[in-house]
Amino acid sequence: MSTVDLPLNEQVAVVTGGSRGIGRAIALILGNMGLKVVVNYARSSDAAEEVVKIITENGGEAIALQGDVSQAEAVDTLIKTSLEKFGRIDVLVNNAGITRDTLLMRMKSEDWQGVIDLNLTGVFLCTKAVTKPMLKQKRGRIINISSVVGQMGNPGQANYSAAKAGVIGLTKAVAKEVASRGVTVNAVAPGFIATDMTEKVKAEDILQFIPLGRLGTAEEVAGMVRFLATDPAGAYITGQVFNVDGGMVMA
Ligand code: NAP
Repeated sequence: MSTVDLPLNEQVAVVTGGSRGIGRAIALILGNMGLKVVVNYARSSDAAEEVVKIITENGGEAIALQGDVSQAEAVDTLIKTSLEKFGRIDVLVNNAGITRDTLLMRMKSEDWQGVIDLNLTGVFLCTKAVTKPMLKQKRGRIINISSVVGQMGNPGQANYSAAKAGVIGLTKAVAKEVASRGVTVNAVAPGFIATDMTEKVKAEDILQFIPLGRLGTAEEVAGMVRFLATDPAGAYITGQVFNVDGGMVMA
């Protein structure tokens, strides 16, 4: 049986970093599709509660759970609490991420480690924590937010590029491990999306690399996540990377 067989309003999604930016748009789109949503956040409790409020005002169900997903204990608590509250997890969106940009020559070990700890190890920890319940229920959708930078590199982002490339490798390996139990694992690789993360990026520096000639929106990335999480086609797609990047990377 695939996830498609379960009504969306009986499904539960955990979105890491669901308080702002792309994660917020993902939480809202899944909440509006009827899924119960766990909105994870690290610091922005007001923003996370606002996401919960919007979902519940629209007739859905959601809770905000604080937890730094780079920390194993916090991840265990996040997944345990989600299971206690909703009884199951059908969709995990590994979205939480940070940048600490600087040229390699100036990059401190803590800049490297901080980005790897959240953007790569965090994906490992959350994926591992949901794998057991998903394998048991023989259904699940794991969606990892990577980046075009993990495919093409970017000066000043050796740490971030390495983490996001690592997410793609992790996605493919785990996809092969869990496929026989109806669990799919895919990555989404956004290009430049207008969020707090890119507020310092100067449009004139990057627009020449974007064939569609503009930054993307968080909602456009969320639309791809919604497709993988809820469309019937999602049951037969695994180990793939989907670019939502205005044409930056054409494989
Ligand atoms: P953003 O606006 O900076 O939001 C980041 C989110 O991650 C926030 O909700 C934040 O929560 C959460 N977060 C940060 N540290 C966390 C931690 N330790 N534990 C749990 N949550 C944490 O970033 P964004 O642009 O939406 O990016 C979302 C994802 O897309 C990231 O993985 C990013 O690398 C990726 N991405 C973004 C772009 C882009 O152009 N924006 C492009 C490619 C990929 P708090 O507010 O509570 O700290």
